[in-house]
Amino acid sequence: MDRDYNVTIEEIQRVLKEKTKRFAFKKLEREVVKTGACVECGACAASCPVNAITGERINDKYVPKLTGDCTSCGICYAMCPRSFVLEEHLLGNVKSIWKIRTTANYKHQDGGAVTSILGYMLDTKMIEGAVIACKSTEKPWMPIAKTVTNKEDLYACGGTIYSHAQVVDEMIQGFKKNLTSLAIVGTACNIDAVHRMEEHPAGFFSIDKKASIFKVSLFCMESFNYQDIVAFLDKVGIDIKNVARFAIAGGQFKVSVGDDEQSWPVGELDYAAASSCAFCQDLSGKHADLSCGNIGSDEGWTTVLARTDRGVKIIKDAIKNGAIEGEQLESDAMLSVMNSARFKMNKYYGLSSKH
Ligand code: SF4
Ligand code: SF4
Ligand code: SF4
Repeated sequence: MDRDYNVTIEEIQRVLKEKTKRFAFKKLEREVVKTGACVECGACAASCPVNAITGERINDKYVPKLTGDCTSCGICYAMCPRSFVLEEHLLGNVKSIWKIRTTANYKHQDGGAVTSILGYMLDTKMIEGAVIACKSTEKPWMPIAKTVTNKEDLYACGGTIYSHAQVVDEMIQGFKKNLTSLAIVGTACNIDAVHRMEEHPAGFFSIDKKASIFKVSLFCMESFNYQDIVAFLDKVGIDIKNVARFAIAGGQFKVSVGDDEQSWPVGELDYAAASSCAFCQDLSGKHADLSCGNIGSDEGWTTVLARTDRGVKIIKDAIKNGAIEGEQLESDAMLSVMNSARFKMNKYYGLSSKH
């Protein structure tokens, strides 16, 4: 006997209407089927409430095709394991979103929230050290991974550096020197490496049960090869040793020399992007305790996605303690972070960012 699925479908439609944009089959076909991302699972055809999709066999490959009238309900797109319409696909689990800035008087970038949170954790002895990327003293703006154990060294390291740094290696060396509690700040790829060390039975944290790590991820669209950045700046008449600040905001790569700021569309530096970043789908660091960046908050503030109970508690305690100021945001605030995450995912699939 056929079972009646109407209630389930209505419920799904209600959730989709409230929580997501609704897309027609064409979007699924364009983004998943035609790009080769389809895993041939048949979930789209099985989920269509009006049986508009047929899984056809073409050269022994299962290919979902639209054979009926699509009502643009969006269910096939939402059920597909290779689409990325729902928040958790794009950003992972988020317990709360915050808008934060430092209360300390030191030179900082984008709200200085990360540095102040780490400073608070050091002050309260929650961690023995923080592993961060600092500027090399030999090559200007070349990132060097460093473990800092006091606020003075932490503040001296401020400033965003857009090249890969070996913070994970530095973290492990710290634990091997008998440190037991560290925070690490890195891009999503770094945090993913740490997460694997936590999850895999042979991973570092599965073996060393004493080691405790607090993971802070920085929003990241891409990082650049150091030599290519130096060459780019050279071409536009800037010596990297004179640069006071780098920033990426609103699709612009911004470089400050003294009080003068110049900017270029980030696309002009595509050739300088690290090859690894072409394989990256994660903007915000889904496995972090806190994910931080300048997307979604006014200038001078940092947007923070708190993903774990520990992350939420540290934010609340640091605000209470006066190390940072800020407020919790409504989930709507996540929209611009989600849009950036979707842009990155589209880039990965070689798609236009338009929907
Ligand atoms: S009716 Fe809904 S589930 Fe069916 S093809 Fe169209 S969008 Fe997909
Ligand atoms: S649900 Fe997605 S992955 Fe599965 S067959 Fe349909 S398009 Fe392919
Ligand atoms: S784009 Fe991805 S791979 Fe590249 S630095 Fe950022 S997180 Fe790492």
